[in-house]
Amino acid sequence: MVIAIHGGCGTLARELLPAAEWDEVRAHLAQSLRAGWAVLAAGGPAVDAVQAAVVVLEDSPHFNAGHGAALTHEATHELDASIMEGTQGRAGAVCTVRRTRNPILAARAVMEHSGCVLLSAEAADRYAQAQGLAMVDNGYFTTPRRVKALADVQAGKAGASIRPLSEADRHGTVGAVARDARGGLAAATSTGGFNDKPAGRVGDSPLIGAGTFARDGVCAVSCTGMGELFIRHAVAYDLCARMQYAGQTLVEAGNHLVHQTMKGHGIGAGLVSVDATGVVHAPFNTLGMARGWIAADGHVHVATHEEVFDAGRC
Ligand code: ASP
Repeated sequence: MVIAIHGGCGTLARELLPAAEWDEVRAHLAQSLRAGWAVLAAGGPAVDAVQAAVVVLEDSPHFNAGHGAALTHEATHELDASIMEGTQGRAGAVCTVRRTRNPILAARAVMEHSGCVLLSAEAADRYAQAQGLAMVDNGYFTTPRRVKALADVQAGKAGASIRPLSEADRHGTVGAVARDARGGLAAATSTGGFNDKPAGRVGDSPLIGAGTFARDGVCAVSCTGMGELFIRHAVAYDLCARMQYAGQTLVEAGNHLVHQTMKGHGIGAGLVSVDATGVVHAPFNTLGMARGWIAADGHVHVATHEEVFDAGRC
């Protein structure tokens, strides 16, 4: 059994947050991992584990998904999410939802009950509500950090001199992948997109094959980075195809996509992935990527930059 998560490749430089906040970021990563692991340890399927892990990250103000999501150009939130299980290849997604508290739960409901793969905007919110999911005012997603980031981005575009925008000011995402006790794989991704994005913009995160993919016997993957490039390169599916058709390992395929394909376009990118044997790979080409994993030894590993912390055993 394995679970691995990411909190986006747009990690701030260490000096920009007090140590106590970094501690809290790592604590929330560990909490997310433990939520997913509890499902796996109880014999649950990978798809339930990735959902449980992502809900914790959506509820944390530290990540660009759910509460704490990026703001659009119009200072509203439009959230995207998707989930896929690799046994039957079922998937569900929502995009540009504005009222659904946990978009990943709406994506799961779409997968289980709608007969569709992707529902959008107000109709997706209405669907989530009809499924009994918690609804909130759009302002629930807003945090002071996102308000400031939007102001900085818009001031920068207006020509004001502000400190150079970090990857974290611009975007971020959360995601999880898992392998359960029977070898089932699953992936889930949830995001607010990027700061100052145009209203109606849809990124890679809710698109199966772009930001999320899972296929038993091969891999599960959740991506982070400027979604337009991930869509154009079908990155999540390409990772799987490289392994399945070209015989690459998880590490070779992930390194190629993050350090060559995406880096070649000059964009910050990262992903978390797991293969059929339980190998985890979390490459990124930015300053840092919030991430973590629990593998067979039951140890909780969390990281935001290079160094990896052992947060104890489950
Ligand atoms: N992939 C996300 C999007 O484009 C953003 C990110 O991960 O940074 O919506």
